[in-house]
Amino acid sequence: MGAKLIDGKKIAKKIRNEVSLGVLEMKQKHDMKPGLAVILVGDDPASTVYVRNKERDANAVGMYGKTFNLPNNVSEQDLLSLVHELNRDPQFHGVLVQMPLPREIDENKIISAIDPSKDVDGLHPYNVGLLASGNPKFIPATPAGIEQMLLRTDNNPSGKHVVVLGRSNIVGRPVANLLSLKRSGGNATVTVCHSSTYNLRDITREADILIAAIGRPHYVTEEMIKEEVVVIDVGINRVENFKRRKGYELIGDVDFRRVSQKASAITPVPGGVGPMTIAMLLSNTLKAACDLRHSNRDPD
Ligand code: NAP
Repeated sequence: MGAKLIDGKKIAKKIRNEVSLGVLEMKQKHDMKPGLAVILVGDDPASTVYVRNKERDANAVGMYGKTFNLPNNVSEQDLLSLVHELNRDPQFHGVLVQMPLPREIDENKIISAIDPSKDVDGLHPYNVGLLASGNPKFIPATPAGIEQMLLRTDNNPSGKHVVVLGRSNIVGRPVANLLSLKRSGGNATVTVCHSSTYNLRDITREADILIAAIGRPHYVTEEMIKEEVVVIDVGINRVENFKRRKGYELIGDVDFRRVSQKASAITPVPGGVGPMTIAMLLSNTLKAACDLRHSNRDPD
């Protein structure tokens, strides 16, 4: 392998340590414990694992992390009532609803019901607007994690051509907005590609930094990149592998073995973007608690 490994686990651990110091300071100086409420609807195995990890990691950094489980057949109204209740609950500074939701429930309606000042996933239209207009408050966790990985491995995107594969609201669009902002950590020239992009390969070959977020196992091959590119693989794809105890393995959108011969740096799957996502969620929760404390403080 020619490429340097971008070790998401290691960087995420450092960020979690930084967050725990912030949490400790809040407790000692202001007698305040940041709280994160996570709502899980149904029992989808992948969502259940994600949510369990979020609660576990929140508690591990000294926050109050709590999961609220609702049955798969919960009504939209009951879910909205819980969101409103958590919006009002002073124990929680961050509120998130694990996606995807059952088809009968309007995801946009639920996201819009979260108090924007507790929207640590950064998906409320108010926070999406702040990011798009260049004044972000809560940056969605996966894009925020990608930015941190680049900056902390000496791969500042400033002046670089970043090509993003995928235009979803949780990864593609916000990471494109984030890295093109006129501020430190941004200043990249960004191209966003999707399933209707013509001559995709010609575009990906122009990338200095390639971010793959399409959900297609090993889609990005060495013919699609130029030498020395930095590759961020966001994809998490479950594929059958009967040699594994569970009968499956998780692989990325990038053919790691072949692409790593040509790239200058690359993230693995697992152990790349995944751990960064939870670390940045915790960082957003600490920020939400700090912002709330400042807004409640008497003017000097
Ligand atoms: P999504 O909502 O399904 O969006 C996929 C995007 O990829 C769409 O914009 C789609 O284009 C585009 N696309 C699909 N096939 C393509 C192709 N052949 N060429 C170019 N573009 C193509 O996915 P997502 O939620 O962003 O997630 C993407 C992947 O990242 C998934 O594997 C997911 O599990 C993973 N993920 C990982 C993390 C993490 O923490 N590591 C977090 C979030 C997501 P259209 O818009 O034209 O349909």
